[in-house]
Amino acid sequence: MPHALIALGGNVGDVRTTFRNAIANICGMTQAALLARSSDYTTPPWGDVEQAPFVNACIEIDTPLDPHALLFALQKIEAKFGRDRAKETRWGPRTLDLDLIAYDDVSLQKPELTLPHPRLFERAFVLVPLAEIAPDRVIGGRRVASALAGLSTDGIERLPDPL
Ligand code: ATP
Ligand code: CA
Ligand code: CA
Repeated sequence: MPHALIALGGNVGDVRTTFRNAIANICGMTQAALLARSSDYTTPPWGDVEQAPFVNACIEIDTPLDPHALLFALQKIEAKFGRDRAKETRWGPRTLDLDLIAYDDVSLQKPELTLPHPRLFERAFVLVPLAEIAPDRVIGGRRVASALAGLSTDGIERLPDPL
């Protein structure tokens, strides 16, 4: 089955509980098997910096869905957990953001779905959790751990595992 890497983010509400429930929904709705889940990390906001810190994590799944169907399912799950794009600003506060980082070695350049995710290599808040679960994965010709080594990880802290 195809492998997908998904980045989770949020900074409104009880984000870690949202992640736990969202991951269960991802596996249920996309008939996916969870292969790996990173720790949760607290990260400084990006883009609009006048907002609460984010929690970020990454997961790896096996899924029978094609990339567009998977993204559609992720957007439905974002909405279920309170995401309302009509009310938000770009890179502003949100309950749950689910980005498709990579889907096997598929390359796509459409506005509605670009793969690998176009801003991955600028973002330590994605690469830190990703490097925890897939350091040797090569995405767009770059090894995850090597790509992370070139970025500042200031302000990114691993959160203790919940009891
Ligand atoms: P960024 O894409 O910079 O992380 P964002 O996550 O805040 O910003 P959204 O408002 O969640 O942006 O999504 C904007 C659009 O990006 C969506 O409508 C979606 O169709 C599109 N998109 C393109 N490529 C991807 C991808 N790889 N994963 C998720 N969404 C994508
Ligand atoms: Ca995003
Ligand atoms: Ca997104």
